Amino acid sequence: MDLSNRTILITGATDGIGKVLALEFSKLGSNIILLGRDSSKLDKVYDQLDHSFESQKHLILQADLALLSNESAHEILRAITEEFHSLDGIIHNAAILGTMTTLEDYELSRWDEVLNINLRAPFLLTKTLKKILENAAMPRIIFTSSGVANIGRAFWGAYSVSKFGLKGLAEIFANELETTSSIKVFNFDPGATQTKMRASARPAEDPNSLKTPNELLDCYLWFFSEESSDSEDSYFEYADLSKKVTST
Ligand code: NDP
Repeated sequence: MDLSNRTILITGATDGIGKVLALEFSKLGSNIILLGRDSSKLDKVYDQLDHSFESQKHLILQADLALLSNESAHEILRAITEEFHSLDGIIHNAAILGTMTTLEDYELSRWDEVLNINLRAPFLLTKTLKKILENAAMPRIIFTSSGVANIGRAFWGAYSVSKFGLKGLAEIFANELETTSSIKVFNFDPGATQTKMRASARPAEDPNSLKTPNELLDCYLWFFSEESSDSEDSYFEYADLSKKVTST
């Protein structure tokens, strides 16, 4: 798939799924905007990005999404506009797990941090970057869901609540934009994947029993394909989407 001349913003691009997507999309020619909170990790990922396509360029945006404000979101918009004519996609991937504990014992400051990173930041970034996305030919917004977005399970606390909220946010954006904009909105549950977050959530699990982030690539590529333009669904789970993309 040729993704040259497409500019894609990936939040949480310094580790796990986001990092792999950044590296793999750059190999297909995309301009990658790496957003993360840790500048040394951002520099390391930047150094591994592919630069071999003509006029391909990448950008680092250092931002702590827990602290995102209207002003900093507009600074992000300005930084992207200075470098690129349009923005072809946002992959809202950054998230934290928070604490695995009962609601009764949940620390309020931790609760706020999880909700700010996992739910408030995708809302604010999307509303701020909508205009520049509309300059693109086939713009996409991909939110990242989870198995605990649909069913409340003990001890998943703020993380689960944030993903329930994100489901609503994605559906509302999808519905509002479907008739007024060319932007397609998706919400994707990648399912159990070998990352730092999964290891903290399930310390007793053997990581080698899980798929790697690279195995998600075909699903993410499908979101950026012509084929997904006709999709009436906005919510996808890995198990179903991976079958669909391998059968086509
Ligand atoms: P990781 O913990 O491996 O990576 C999360 C990324 O988000 C890191 O780059 C991290 O940065 C970044 N991040 C965290 N907080 C902030 C912040 N305040 N500001 C900016 N960036 C931040 O997680 P995964 O790769 O596993 O998860 C990616 C997405 O997939 C998440 O939305 C998660 O909920 C979802 N998901 C994952 C599953 C799994 O099994 N792995 C299953 C279902 C959903 P840093 O490197 O500084 O920590």
